[in-house]
Amino acid sequence: MLAKLLEGKIVADKIKEKVKNSVLSLRQAPVLASILVGDNPSALAYVKIQAKVAQSLGITYKLYQLEQNISQDQLIDFVLKLNADTSVNGIIVQVPLPPDIDYMKICEFIQPNKDVEGMHPTNIGKVLFGKARIAACTANAVMELLDSIGLDLYGKEVVIVGHSEIVGKPLAMLLLEKFATVTVCHIATSKAGKLEDHVKRAEVLIVAVGQAGLIKGEWIKEGAVVVDVGINHLNDKIVGDIEFESAAKRAAYITPVPGGVGPLTVAILMRNLVEVAKAQQSTKS
Ligand code: NDP
Repeated sequence: MLAKLLEGKIVADKIKEKVKNSVLSLRQAPVLASILVGDNPSALAYVKIQAKVAQSLGITYKLYQLEQNISQDQLIDFVLKLNADTSVNGIIVQVPLPPDIDYMKICEFIQPNKDVEGMHPTNIGKVLFGKARIAACTANAVMELLDSIGLDLYGKEVVIVGHSEIVGKPLAMLLLEKFATVTVCHIATSKAGKLEDHVKRAEVLIVAVGQAGLIKGEWIKEGAVVVDVGINHLNDKIVGDIEFESAAKRAAYITPVPGGVGPLTVAILMRNLVEVAKAQQSTKS
């Protein structure tokens, strides 16, 4: 392997240290309300990690596990209740939600100043204008990773694969803010047979799809910085979307999966919580 590993844990630990200190400077321990609908195993696993990290930072994590058959309107009512609860600083809705509930619709009802995931249209809009205090956690995690190696994105050819609302789209905006030249690939890129060509030109490649082995190692440009956001369960192992071994022979930096983006996402969620809690306290005083 030639590539250096881009490990999220090291960056995450630094962020968590700062968050811990910020929590101490708040008048009260911040409270994160976490809504879990049903018992999806990956959501449950994520909730466990969030609760553990929150506890280690002095943050109160309140889990609300709701019935799988809850309606969209009932879930919206629940969010409105948490908006009105002044003891709650931040609200997170775990995904995946049942198929008949529209995640983005639910996010519209989270009060923007309690939206720790940066998914309310107001907060998404602020990302577009380069004025975001709270941006989507995973997109932000990728930016932190790139920043941790001192990468100057100005004029760089950056290719993102995946255009979801939680990763690809906000990330494209954050990268544009740094004057990267951004190409966003998606299902139609693959269907048109053009994915390989785009990936091959990437000086920085970020993949967030959820398909093991989608990106072949031989497609990686020599010396590229490669971030694999994907999480896939394959033969009892967790792997990303990129063929790791062969990609690592060509890249300059590559994230391991697990251990790349994942640990950072939770740290940034907690940082967002402290940010909103601080802002709420300052408007009260
Ligand atoms: P989504 O399913 O919402 O989005 C996947 C994206 O990939 C879509 O834009 C989709 O396009 C695109 N896509 C699907 N198939 C192809 C293909 N063959 N070629 C090119 N693009 C394709 O997933 P998320 O964005 O929520 O998550 C992506 C991955 O990242 C998942 O594995 C998820 O588990 C992981 N993840 C990891 C996090 C972490 O902290 N490490 C946090 C969040 C997500 P279209 O919609 O047009 O079909």
